Amino acid sequence: MTSADVRLVPSLSPSQHVAQHRYFHIVGGAVWEAAEPAAHDWNVHFVGMMGDVAVWAVDVPHGLDPADGAAIDLFSYHGRATEAEWLAAGRAVQLVEWSRTHKFCGRCGTATVLSESERSLRCPKCNLLAFPRLAPAMITLVTRGPDGPDQEVLLGRGVQWKVPMYSCLAGFVEPGETLEEAVVREVHEEVGVWVHDVRYVRSQPWPFPHSLMLGFRASYDHGDIVCDPSEIMDAQWFRRDEMPMIPSNISIARSLIDDWLLNN
Ligand SMILES: [Zn+2]
Repeated sequence: MTSADVRLVPSLSPSQHVAQHRYFHIVGGAVWEAAEPAAHDWNVHFVGMMGDVAVWAVDVPHGLDPADGAAIDLFSYHGRATEAEWLAAGRAVQLVEWSRTHKFCGRCGTATVLSESERSLRCPKCNLLAFPRLAPAMITLVTRGPDGPDQEVLLGRGVQWKVPMYSCLAGFVEPGETLEEAVVREVHEEVGVWVHDVRYVRSQPWPFPHSLMLGFRASYDHGDIVCDPSEIMDAQWFRRDEMPMIPSNISIARSLIDDWLLNN
């Protein structure tokens, strides 16, 4: 196997055969890798196995920086790492951030302790368990018209984006709704149109800060584009031969768009 083929297998502790250890030091939200932890009294979380390599997350205490400024954020790390390394670094950041933000029980305020049998922080007084947070978010490529060169996709430009980039529509799933219902609701809320024929495509861990992106395709049903100005600056239908600037390949949005560009 080449290093590009090695997958990350998340787990609570290392497997029996470990050839090497890698330590992702989490400095703020940035990542710096070393063969040894920079200090042995800092909190460490096991991330998982990449082949026979055991990967750890080191929680660098606030205000300290063993990397002397060399730690890089996850966006920058993406271009330098394999897919497995990027997923491992994202998981490391999320585990550390989870432990940093659940030091005390949310019900009674007692200091929590790390469970040894599962990935949880437990309150020793009232037994409340806190698991790593995951926020499911759906992201949808909406098409209009029959397959072929005249088919269009609906892409929006977020109000926060500094560049004139257009992407798939996305939003968080609400308690009490299915993923498919979330797709229909979010598309309507953001750009005013109704969709049907919602189909799951693939997912992507998205550690900003703890999302799981669930990629969908959907078909246009009816309605005109009316953007929610608090979220979407502009939305338009685009043919393949008139595409705007689209996201980089770090995001599942790009793979949903590329699938459509290449496979119809
Ligand atoms: Zn408690």
